[in-house]
Amino acid sequence: MNEKIFTAKPFIDEDTCNSVLEVLRSGMITQGVKVAELEAKFAEYCGVKYSAALNSGTAALHAGLFALGVDKDDEVITSPFTFVASANSILMMGAKPVFADIDEDTFNIDPKNIQNKITAKTKVIMPIHLYGLLSDMPQIQTLANAAKITILEDACQAHGATLNDQKAGSFGDVSAFSLYATKNIMAGEGGVLTSNNESFIENVKSFRHHGQSLVTQYNYTGFGYNYRMTDIHAAIGLSQLKMAENFNRKRLENAAILNKGLSGISGITIPSVPSNYGHVYHQYTIKVDVGKYGRTRDELVQDLQRNNVFPGIFYPKPLHTYPVFQKFGYKEGDFPVSEKISQQVLSLPVHPQITNEDLNRIINIIK
Ligand SMILES: *Cc1c(COP(=O)(O)O)cnc(C)c1O
Repeated sequence: MNEKIFTAKPFIDEDTCNSVLEVLRSGMITQGVKVAELEAKFAEYCGVKYSAALNSGTAALHAGLFALGVDKDDEVITSPFTFVASANSILMMGAKPVFADIDEDTFNIDPKNIQNKITAKTKVIMPIHLYGLLSDMPQIQTLANAAKITILEDACQAHGATLNDQKAGSFGDVSAFSLYATKNIMAGEGGVLTSNNESFIENVKSFRHHGQSLVTQYNYTGFGYNYRMTDIHAAIGLSQLKMAENFNRKRLENAAILNKGLSGISGITIPSVPSNYGHVYHQYTIKVDVGKYGRTRDELVQDLQRNNVFPGIFYPKPLHTYPVFQKFGYKEGDFPVSEKISQQVLSLPVHPQITNEDLNRIINIIK
């Protein structure tokens, strides 16, 4: 039997291990020089001036909304088809998540659905770059500018994704990344907030340490949490960041093999990438149309699993169908595209350690 293959496999080399040991041996293991180095290099990688490291992508989203001044009862427009953390961060601020349905080809928030959701209470638009494909940022920026509202990119799945060679994390007023173990680059757990606005980043650096002043210890000039990253995690993140472009290139090559093998199968739709967009395939996600393919998405999952291939369903239900969001009055039927797509999506292993042989095996099972 073949080895089990999953949708993620963190790559941990000797350099990563050694850099962690170096931190441990230094005796200085909490937020310190490695975190500062990660912040400088991550900002450079994204093509922005500043970044602040946090202990998760969720913390980065929360801190981003804090930096943008989101308050109780403000509204934040986002996609219902995402990981729960995106919208939970809005609840953390006591604000209201206002969902706008997605585009069925890109899986990202459809700018056409944003316009009529903007009210006097709207503070932020939070596009999610799902699976590693940037949202339609030019349209979203136009809408945000016209309404004088800010943008927080949820770039937790999109390290290195581009539009016209401009990187994710450089379009929004602030942008949140996750360094969770399964992401394109990781630190075990971790997050980074990027921005070109220095005062946003200073506020976030205070927010991650209980609202303490950045100059005087035990002087709490605001409110905050313990959202600090350790140097141990930063060391892992730094060693991963060096490999980011290689990882993404390999994901792209793997996706090309899957594209070639799967195109032309009736009822299977391969990922669509609009021109000038650079997808980084955090997930390689196909759509299964049972009417044409002849088997349901869930039957195909079982076929793959029987062959030791463990695909993912990201995500089986859109967020507005869960109790915490239904409290805002949402009900089934409100976002038909997200609801339909959540029944069709299937994410196949595409990570850098998948071999060509594995990819061909996956293709043959689906065929
Ligand atoms: C992973 C992820 C998050 C949360 O990041 P954590 O580091 O797990 O807290 C938020 N949004 C999206 C879209 C994600 O994929």
